Amino acid sequence: MAITCPRGTRDLLPGEAVFWQNFKETASRVFGLYGYVPIETPIIEQTELFVRGIGEATDVVSKEMFTAISGANLQTLLDGGKLESRRRLSLRPEGTAGVVRAALQHGLVPQGAPPVKLMYAGPMFRAEQPQEGRQRQFNQVGIECLGADDATIDAEGIVMLMRFFDEIGIPASETRLLVNSMGCANCRPAYRDLVYDYLKQHASQLCDTCLARMEANPLRAFDCKNAACAELMEDAPKITDHLCDDCRSHHDEVLDLVKGTGIDYAEDPSLVRGLDYYTRTVFEVQTGADRAQSAIGGGGRYDRLAEEIGGKALPGFGFALGYERCLLALQARGFELSSPKGCSVFVASATSDVCAAAFELVQMCRDQGVAAELDHQGRSLKSQFKLADKLHADFVAIMGPDELSQGLVKVRNMNSHDEQLVAVSEVAGVLKQLVS
Ligand code: AMP
Repeated sequence: MAITCPRGTRDLLPGEAVFWQNFKETASRVFGLYGYVPIETPIIEQTELFVRGIGEATDVVSKEMFTAISGANLQTLLDGGKLESRRRLSLRPEGTAGVVRAALQHGLVPQGAPPVKLMYAGPMFRAEQPQEGRQRQFNQVGIECLGADDATIDAEGIVMLMRFFDEIGIPASETRLLVNSMGCANCRPAYRDLVYDYLKQHASQLCDTCLARMEANPLRAFDCKNAACAELMEDAPKITDHLCDDCRSHHDEVLDLVKGTGIDYAEDPSLVRGLDYYTRTVFEVQTGADRAQSAIGGGGRYDRLAEEIGGKALPGFGFALGYERCLLALQARGFELSSPKGCSVFVASATSDVCAAAFELVQMCRDQGVAAELDHQGRSLKSQFKLADKLHADFVAIMGPDELSQGLVKVRNMNSHDEQLVAVSEVAGVLKQLVS
């Protein structure tokens, strides 16, 4: 059987690849209005970065990471040897850890400098059970703002994400924006103990996964999809009742600022996102009825992450949105991908002896910046017109031996069917004017 792409990955065929290009351009334009500039980090990082940054007990790190082993290292493992941790590499499961690593490595945020605002777009990899909207390789667009812990950064980020969704065709009225605070190093440990005690008291009602989670990271029980656990967690202590004064006022300020822009949100004290690095603000944007794959984007504040990966204290806020989930949400609203336009001008040859002249004209059009195409398969003139139609050409330049002998080319407008004779020496320039 012919080889197909690996399970949980997909090809972005030309119509979709063009859409993905436009999607990224819209993100650059919208986020650029808020001062975000692009950064590109490697798709592969030291495994240690994710273990320390995202957290060993998270599903993403403990179960879903693709770890890459290069040739010689694979042999070492096969021979029963061990790899030093520095030589263990993983495909990035998310973008934040790599961007924070790069900012620290290159000193992008010197002491006292204004916050640095970075954006990225590209593939992430998680070994998940593939299903619609859940893939092993998927594309995210994300931002990170490093160097400030003001509530204005969080509020601005949330508002910016909602604006992006609106611009790509997912209006706020069709989304749910959920916001919570995860507290900080001062108030979260005590809260975590409360949740632990609550889980311990109800251990007999918990699923096996939550029983295991209880020890490593009890807050993850809020994320359990098991109906009995979800019901139990409704009565669990709420973080927002246990925030310290600083976290309380930070959270209230974020909510007030978002409310001031007219964007609707719901406070959701059970929103604990799957990565360990969050402190204070966390938020998620959902759409559609399928709650399992309903998150189209989310993020929050991570004031301890830089230190966790061995750097200086560097407060941060960021979010990532899932491109494939956005496309599904758009398609659910009737959006259809269109095939990209083939060319503006098609140069047709009436007979085989004018092919060289057609070849020359098509280059001249391209030199003028006009997308031009010709037949490469010896088609009849009739089928060349069909091809021009298929490629959505606006004009066809017809190379006929009689016209050419007089130094002329016939140009046909494919919409109006008007035709005009143009001098060969001028035709590329005329076509440029006609298509612009
Ligand atoms: P996360 O990094 O888990 O906060 O995810 C951010 C966004 O990426 C989510 O809201 C989804 O839209 C998208 N996403 C996360 N995991 C997947 C996946 N396995 N397949 C497709 N999209 C995903």
